[in-house]
Amino acid sequence: MSLDFKGFEAGEIVFRMGDEATAAYVIERGAVEILLTKDGEFERINMLGPGELFGEIALLDGGTRTATVRTLAATRLVAIQRSQLESLLAKAEPVVQYIVRILLEHVRRAASGAPGEARTLSELLALAVKTGETPDLADKLKHEATRMLTLATNLVNAIAEGQLELHYQPIVSLKNRSLAGFEALIRWRHPTLGMVRPDEFIPLAEKTDLIHRIGEFVVQQALTDWPMLKPLCDGAVEGATPFMSINLSAPEFCKTDAFERIAQSLNAHQMAPQELRIELTETVIISNVDVVSEVIHRLRGLGVGIALDDFGKGYGGLDYLQSLPFSCLKIDKSFVDKMHQSERSKQIIQSTIELSARLGMSTVAEGIEDEQTAELLAEMGCVYAQGYYFARPMSVPGLKEWYAARQA
Ligand code: C2E
Ligand code: CA
Ligand code: CA
Repeated sequence: MSLDFKGFEAGEIVFRMGDEATAAYVIERGAVEILLTKDGEFERINMLGPGELFGEIALLDGGTRTATVRTLAATRLVAIQRSQLESLLAKAEPVVQYIVRILLEHVRRAASGAPGEARTLSELLALAVKTGETPDLADKLKHEATRMLTLATNLVNAIAEGQLELHYQPIVSLKNRSLAGFEALIRWRHPTLGMVRPDEFIPLAEKTDLIHRIGEFVVQQALTDWPMLKPLCDGAVEGATPFMSINLSAPEFCKTDAFERIAQSLNAHQMAPQELRIELTETVIISNVDVVSEVIHRLRGLGVGIALDDFGKGYGGLDYLQSLPFSCLKIDKSFVDKMHQSERSKQIIQSTIELSARLGMSTVAEGIEDEQTAELLAEMGCVYAQGYYFARPMSVPGLKEWYAARQA
């Protein structure tokens, strides 16, 4: 957000009572007085100095000014336009949007001297609706914010109470459709909300230290389950090692002891490093290129596979292929799906698969939902695929049943 400065001489009016209100101001330098008009005369009700905010009601509903503000000395103000705040708010998380709207509503009510009857969240929300929010949007925000607050509070106990589970999605070889490996995907079996998907709670965990406990759980659980899953991976492509892929977030991977922790776990579980594959997204790499690069190099030295996840979804994928020794490229579903839209997109996927092979990497196409896509990718030389068409992520017992049915 670029700052909008405004300079005033002493004694200048910043705004008058009755003016249209579109911005709030923070005093950077100088001082102002807040004036009410009484019997045609100004009456000073307050004086404000550097760091103080005024005109903030404008941030809520842009009505008219309820007081006049005049400078007492040469003054520099930072203007916060309502439109700026709105666009920042629109990008914020639902909890933040909700809380800011409630707080602004409090300010408005306090400032307008309205009788203090409406104070519950729903009453305040009803007011927010009146001030321009559609009921749908307000309800949606409230629902999302409540859910997120509940999840954030409950997550602390989720690990201790064994509510987290790892499910495994098969990754198949496109050559003969045999089972080549698995991707471990975390699930939270919430006692009242049912199954919560990682997209909802991983970002919450990433904001706190909880992500480290989740990372630890994922590594331990995946390595513990591996001896049961590995025997299912028979008959993969000649010479290929069966593998278990896990996802790690930036805070887990950017710790300087990430390498030691993974190496120790492999050792404790007697798992061959070549059988473990760690999936990293561009976001993880960008978060701390130096540490991530060091950890990747050390893990590769040990034989652990490193996959660049969600390739084609971000922007800088190619940059990292130059500098980091990935062993696998995972082509994102959105990128694969484009293949059906134009010949050009198809050529780009084809070149990506070839590039990947030239750099000595294997390629996994993600999100395959039909035979036609699977066949096309196989023709194009893509080695592995993963998607609902082959199998959904499943618990270990579910996976065993699926495997038995497949063999029958
Ligand atoms: P991801 O790593 O890209 O995982 C693939 C996601 O695509 C999974 O969603 C999977 O269920 C879904 N998927 C697989 N095949 C298909 C398909 O054919 N069609 C469609 N529409 N979707 C398909 P999921 O399990 O909800 O995970 C979402 C994301 O959460 C993952 O994306 C990953 O970034 C993150 N995540 C999952 N497990 C973990 C974990 O243990 N640790 C961390 N840090 N992140 C995780
Ligand atoms: Ca992944
Ligand atoms: Ca992915």
